This record gives sequence, structure tokens and C-alpha cells, in this order.
Amino acid sequence: MSSDDQRRSRRSGGRPISVSFEFFPPKTPEMEATLWNSIQRLAPLAPKFVSVTYGAGGSTRERTHATVERIVKETPLSPAAHLTCVSASQGEVDEVVRGYWNAGVRHIVALRGDPPGGVGQAYEPHPDGYKTSADLVAGIRRSANFEVSVSAYPEKHPESPSFERDLDILNAKVDAGATRAITQCFFDNDLYFAYLDKVRARGIDVPVVPGILPVSNFKQAKNFAEKTGCYMPSWLAGRFEGLDNDPETRKLISAAVAAEQVFDLLDRGVNEFHFYTLNRADLVYAICHLLGIRAPQDKGAGQGAGQAAA
Ligand SMILES: Cc1cc2nc3c(=O)[nH]c(=O)nc-3n(C[C@H](O)[C@H](O)[C@H](O)COP(=O)(O)OP(=O)(O)OC[C@H]3O[C@@H](n4cnc5c(N)ncnc54)[C@H](O)[C@@H]3O)c2cc1C
Repeated sequence: MSSDDQRRSRRSGGRPISVSFEFFPPKTPEMEATLWNSIQRLAPLAPKFVSVTYGAGGSTRERTHATVERIVKETPLSPAAHLTCVSASQGEVDEVVRGYWNAGVRHIVALRGDPPGGVGQAYEPHPDGYKTSADLVAGIRRSANFEVSVSAYPEKHPESPSFERDLDILNAKVDAGATRAITQCFFDNDLYFAYLDKVRARGIDVPVVPGILPVSNFKQAKNFAEKTGCYMPSWLAGRFEGLDNDPETRKLISAAVAAEQVFDLLDRGVNEFHFYTLNRADLVYAICHLLGIRAPQDKGAGQGAGQAAA
């Protein structure tokens, strides 16, 4: 083991590090090419799974399915298909679920989804649809032996009246059969740990995997954070100050900021990370490299603690 590996291993308490990557289904042939370049670059890092989002209101139903199916057919990766309850009857959702099973998919990220009118509107379930995310989890588990992951919100879901209400819903999802929660992105790790304490105090014991969004475009990330009620610390704005027209430096800063966040989580006992890739490989590849996660061809004297475990 190199000294770098030893340091990393100490930081993770000797526990294996595992990662997963999230993609969204491409809209155009150019975006499809970008996505597949990214999948091919990241695949050798042997992620635990890769997930593909489902567009608001089921708008990407076919594209999500096509992307997930191609991952099954053309890569050794384990895909997780996101699925929401929005704008679909139970029968339609069940058909999508069966389609995934038949295509060889064994993992679904089950979500209620945003209101069809967009974030900020009141959520009204489809009259014949699954009413809640917990109902959807139960429906998926009834359909076949899928692994089911669900969402979690370290800063509370924007619609939620309280953390207690949020925890009730997370609890219901786990009771219905979810075995992993993946968090909304956050930039202040203390908020994640405060939330984790609340989750554990409620007796919810599934892994709560931090969702990491490497910020490459600060303005975009700020807009996203505002929409999702996610706190953007002022120090983060400071890191990107004056770099609006300097994408090269921005990228270096992005990698440094995300690595700092991930290593702080690692130091504090986290060893599983879910990366929001935005279909770009470079930043995530670099952060995984720092974590010691290596593609087989890159393994040498510096073989990492993470890859050894994957
Ligand atoms: C990891 C992750 C992946 C995601 N992937 C997608 C995706 O692929 N496609 C997509 O469209 N969206 C996605 N989202 C966003 C998600 O759909 C929205 O945040 C949506 O508003 C809530 O769906 P959920 O499953 O998180 O809701 P739930 O977990 O069911 O609920 C979230 C919170 O909303 C509040 N809430 C829900 N129902 C009620 C109610 N009846 N009364 C009061 N409060 C209520 C509660 O506080 C609850 O904790 C994702 C989010 C995360 C964190």
C-alpha cells in the first residue's frame, strides 16, 4: 500500500469506499454521444450502480427506458431506473416496472415526483395512480424482487412542514421495502450529519448515501439550490468569484471544492457516495481518482482503497 492509500484507508476507517453515478436521459444525438462517452469513461471505475433519472411528469419515459436498457446490454454496469408516480395510473406504472424487470433491470429509484404543474404547485396524485412514494415502493416490491432506493432531504423537502413530516415519509418508504436513501445535493456537510442524527434517532437504519453535485457552473448550481431549498454557503460563492469568464480555472476549483466535501465526509465516517454527474465524466472521474478508485488499467503502485473494495 502506498502512503496515499494508507492515508485514505485511515480516513475511511479501513472500510471500502463505494460510488454510484447518476445520469439523465439525453434529448439529442449530441447529448447522447456525450452521455455515452461519459458512461464509457466512468464504467471502469466499477460503480456499485448507475442511475438514470425520469423526466418530470414522466416526460422521458421512453428515453429513460432506452438508456437503461442500453446500459444493461452494452456495459457491465448495474443500472437503477428512476421512476415517479406523476401523471400515470398504477397500471401504467406497473407496466413500466414489468418492462424494466424483463429488460434485466433489478434496481429502481422510486419517487413521488414533482407536481405536473412544476415545483411550487400543490401536488395532486393521479386519480388512479400511486398516491405516495411509499405506495410506489410497495407496488414495485409486490411486482418483483427489485432493489429499491428512495430520496432523502438533509435540508427538508421544500414542501415539507417539518423534519418530523419528512422523517415520517422516509420511514414509510423504508417500511414499504426501500433499502437505501440517496440525498438531495447539499454543500454544507454539517447539515447532512445533523439530518443523519435525526434519521438514526427515528430508528431508520438504511444507508443514507450523500448525493454529491460537483459545482461546475456556479450560477446554475445557485439556481438549482434556490429551487430545491438547498443552502449555498457564502464561502462557496467566494471560491467562484471573478471566474465567470474563466471556465478552465472554474473546473479546477470545482474539482477541489467537491474533493474537499467528499474527504470531509470520509473523515467523518461516510464511505458511500452518489455523484450527480450531469452526464459529464471529467470532474467525477477526478474526484474518484483522489478517493483511490482506479480503472483496472490505471492500477499500479497506487492501487486505491476504494477500487479494492468495489
Ligand atoms: C436522489 C433523488 C433523485 C431524484 N430523481 C428524480 C427523477 O428522476 N425525476 C423527478 O421527476 N424527480 C426526481 N427527484 C426529485 C423529486 O421527484 C422531488 O423532490 C419531488 O418533489 C418529491 O419526490 P420524492 O419521492 O422525493 O417525495 P417523497 O419522499 O414522497 O416526499 C418528499 C417530501 O415531500 C413532502 N411531502 C410529500 N407528500 C406530502 C404530502 N402529501 N403532504 C405534505 N408533505 C408531503 C414531505 O415532506 C416529504 O418528505 C429526485 C430527488 C432526489 C433526492
